[in-house]
Amino acid sequence: MKIIVVGAVAGGATAASQIRRVLPDAEIIIYEKDRDMSFANCGLPYYLGEVVTERDRLLQATPESFRQKKQLTVKTKHEVTAVNIEEKSVSVFNHDTGESFIDSYDLLILSPGCSPISLTATKEADFIFPLRNLEDTDAIEEYIKANHVKKALIVGAGYIGIEMAENFKHRGFDVTLTNRSEHILKAMDKQFVPLLKNIITEHQIKLLLNDEIVSLDQHDIIFKSGHRESFDIVIAAIGIKPNTDFVKDSGIELNENGYIKVNDYFETNAEGVYALGDAIETFYRHTKQRTTVALAWGAHRAANLISGNISEHKEPFKGLLATNIVRFFEHTIASVGISEQELNEYDYEHINYEQKNHASYLPDARVTCISVYYRKDNRQLLRACVFGQEGVDKRIDVIATAMGFGATVDDFKDIEIAYAPPYSSPKDIVNMIGYKA
Ligand code: FAD
Repeated sequence: MKIIVVGAVAGGATAASQIRRVLPDAEIIIYEKDRDMSFANCGLPYYLGEVVTERDRLLQATPESFRQKKQLTVKTKHEVTAVNIEEKSVSVFNHDTGESFIDSYDLLILSPGCSPISLTATKEADFIFPLRNLEDTDAIEEYIKANHVKKALIVGAGYIGIEMAENFKHRGFDVTLTNRSEHILKAMDKQFVPLLKNIITEHQIKLLLNDEIVSLDQHDIIFKSGHRESFDIVIAAIGIKPNTDFVKDSGIELNENGYIKVNDYFETNAEGVYALGDAIETFYRHTKQRTTVALAWGAHRAANLISGNISEHKEPFKGLLATNIVRFFEHTIASVGISEQELNEYDYEHINYEQKNHASYLPDARVTCISVYYRKDNRQLLRACVFGQEGVDKRIDVIATAMGFGATVDDFKDIEIAYAPPYSSPKDIVNMIGYKA
């Protein structure tokens, strides 16, 4: 059996490792178009912020270690440019030699991920960087060191933009964050934007909202509002698009936005072709609506399920809740479930509740805010968002677990949380969701 994997980071490298466990004799080749494999994407902002100080700790595996430990062949700088589903083969371009060749497969696993959308107004500038991989990180680091960077502009206030703002501040830079709309961190409830703005102001980050870059003049950035300002470096984090151009003409079905369609077993419509990770269209576990979720958990879960599916331990995917979390200085904000915009499709109730994260008579008790949306008809939870300091991660994970098993809002009264004064309250905020409802 010969298996070809496209993409050697979160989904691809994990799927290949899992498949090796169940098919010890299979020939497995991973093609990766870029320089590195298996790096910790999620850690890149923290390296640029000098929180992670050893760069090589971000590299979790190399082609050599994969060959030695798992007998997997990883070919970096090899881009898959086309798929022929009738002949069961891929066309590959070797970026080092400039040569192209055809390779055949029995099974093909696609995990090509997504790429950052570039700032069209500023295409050629050498001080404007995306942040997707270790190559981008090295380029940013090199530029910072060579040009004595002190003043940074972060474009886009999604979680990568927010993490970069915090990390560049940690590094001592003068930081400006700009966003096209008012809604900072769109995955979180809009009602928390004023709280986020306070944190931004407290940490002396300059905020330019409802604005966008229209052009540049050397290092001067010109905004739609007419504002003009010079920056040493710009990090563009304005969104992503799926890396699926190479399958467009293959007959493998894509949705209208270019994401690969798969069934509950991660099979595409083409025989022997599976797909996973950021580049697939998937579904919400609780509502079954189709969606796309560019987060690491789903890629890892899919890798495990695919290895089972091809070794006859077939198990369908239960779907995603898009559980996500981000730290912003001393605060944490997290959400789970359908997006705020998708709530419009339901007749729902909304609860807001605030409580200290642990017994208020102990020092350092901090307010946690919780926002929960549930269906009026069957009281099923649709979405929750939690904002606070310590203990936000615990609350969002408890809510996500309950939602995953189909909890109604009333079930939250019966969640028996672990209580001692430093951790929670006998009637914890997650229980209060149920009592309030
Ligand atoms: P990737 O890991 O992106 O891997 C895809 C690989 O495929 C790429 O290396 C690409 O070069 C390669 N490829 C693409 N096309 C081809 C081709 N035609 N031929 C060969 N190779 C190809 N998620 C979280 O859950 N929490 C976080 O805190 C978090 N932080 C993040 C921070 C940053 C800066 C970034 C960039 C991402 C972060 N993510 C986070 C998202 C997470 O990294 C992704 O969800 C995960 O990596 C998706 O895995 P994937 O295999 O689909 O794609």
